[in-house]
Amino acid sequence: MAFKVAIVGRPNVGKSTLFNRLVGRRIALVDDTPGVTRDRRVHPARLQDLRFDVIDTAGFEDAAAATLEGRMRAQTESAIAEADLVLFMIDGRAGLMPDDRRFAEVVRRTSKPVVLVVNKADVRSAANGVLEAWNLGIGEPIGISAEHGTGLPDLRDAIAAIM
Ligand code: GDP
Ligand code: MG
Repeated sequence: MAFKVAIVGRPNVGKSTLFNRLVGRRIALVDDTPGVTRDRRVHPARLQDLRFDVIDTAGFEDAAAATLEGRMRAQTESAIAEADLVLFMIDGRAGLMPDDRRFAEVVRRTSKPVVLVVNKADVRSAANGVLEAWNLGIGEPIGISAEHGTGLPDLRDAIAAIM
């Protein structure tokens, strides 16, 4: 069975953009509007020499929980349960948001390895977001641009150290 990597985090941080890049195709819907219907997707992926299955998350309408937060949390928890490694993504441009801290609580509860990814590092202000990310207490944040592909060698090394 393939090693499974789940990408989790609040809406709009760029999870599906990274998923598409790792999968090498445009499968997941990338949208500026948080909350559009998106199913959880598992797909074979490649990052340089590494091969694994990647799980995208964020469908809001396919889970049973009553509240939006509950649905997001349920989906994140099921993705984490299925995964061997969790990529927890925040948006460096936006900086640390209250929702990031809520997702971080969910992520921190797992015994599985977590890699903290700060996306949108192509934007100038993201450098500050990387510094803020240290406050989550999840370890060293890795700055990437899912859209432009920068920082991926560092992400590769972090994943390879765990696989
Ligand atoms: P998701 O909700 O976490 O799956 O986020 P999406 O992948 O749908 O992306 C949300 C928005 O962020 C879209 O407008 C993307 O084009 C944008 N985005 C994603 N990655 C990057 C990046 O590396 N840099 C910048 N500047 N924007 C990005
Ligand atoms: Mg998405």
